[in-house]
Amino acid sequence: MEALKDILATCEEIAFDLNFTRAKEWKSQDDNRVIVGYMPIYFPREIIHAANGMTVGILGGGDRKMIIKGDAYYQSYICHIPRSIMELALDGHFDSFDGFIFPSICDVIRNLSGTFQILGKGKFVKYMDYPQNFVANIGGEFYENELQNVLDEVYKINHVKVTPEKLNHSIKLFNKNRELLRKIYDIRQEFPWRLTAADVYHIVRAGYMIPVEEHNQILEDVVYHISQDINEPLDNIRVVVMGAFCEQPPVGLIKTIELAGCYVVEDDFLLGARWIQKDIQEIKAGGTLLSSISYAFLNNSTYSSSLYDAEDPKERRLLELIKTRKVDGIIFAAPSFCDPALLDHPILQKACEVNNVRYISFLFSENTGQFKVIKEQIGTFSDSIKLWE
Ligand code: SF4
Repeated sequence: MEALKDILATCEEIAFDLNFTRAKEWKSQDDNRVIVGYMPIYFPREIIHAANGMTVGILGGGDRKMIIKGDAYYQSYICHIPRSIMELALDGHFDSFDGFIFPSICDVIRNLSGTFQILGKGKFVKYMDYPQNFVANIGGEFYENELQNVLDEVYKINHVKVTPEKLNHSIKLFNKNRELLRKIYDIRQEFPWRLTAADVYHIVRAGYMIPVEEHNQILEDVVYHISQDINEPLDNIRVVVMGAFCEQPPVGLIKTIELAGCYVVEDDFLLGARWIQKDIQEIKAGGTLLSSISYAFLNNSTYSSSLYDAEDPKERRLLELIKTRKVDGIIFAAPSFCDPALLDHPILQKACEVNNVRYISFLFSENTGQFKVIKEQIGTFSDSIKLWE
């Protein structure tokens, strides 16, 4: 138990290191190394790894960064995460970063990428479009071109050419990473009392800050410890939390949900780390360099409000997830003013009503500090399920 406590304490420290100490140390050990920052939700980190780079998650300042200058860049009706990212950028937290990737999930991120360009942050800033079409020779080809464009930018900096051998090595490491994360979620599905949701959050978030090789070792150790019969179960309901895929909830909010009587057995907090749901295949002879990465995105992505997929509606996939994770109810927790999450919630909630799935809904911001009202609401939600379901 002491060993697990030490691991968890380390992960918590790494997860919220806004100075990105480990990434900077890693880069300083080799002149050809690069750091590429990326915003939620998903980026195939394998390709940067294969180019002698390290991807670092830009997840905002949470409740640990006072916003002074960042507010000047955004209207009051915009979410909080771009303000804290601007504050971090203006205070020099990203000064060792070589490039930045902004996935195309909303207008706010598009504008933030433009601001980074105007401020001259890094050696490249890429606003990255993801396919809206899932046919291999249309959306797939487009996606490969987008990724190649990122690799070209990295090549201009360090002149490292990505070969199939290097990429296959990186694919194996990240497959291992996703497999271990799946194991942790699966063990928690059966025995959620062995690890709190806040601990899981710290463990996954630490992986956004350190080399994948180091994170894999941490995950192996965690899996070992939680495979033992530790801690006692509580009379909690089992919930999935949905909507926090970009701006991250304060950890106090995750703890509040658990203290109010819920085991969080599924969430979309740091979904990018688990985005690809099956192993990515190694590059086949005759295939293009990025074909496996592209195939995995087109065919094995999870669902999210950040992704357009008319063929496989999100409400169907949410209902499937509820069954798989055997949950008692859903907590829709979205950042204030988050268009992608809030536009989807009425659709998902209607599906819950039609299928008799209990849910509750509220908004947060990454620096929310008062949880009393939320705790009362969730406590009532959890009690009502325990008493009447
Ligand atoms: S929290 Fe929502 S609205 Fe804000 S940047 Fe992220 S996806 Fe866009």
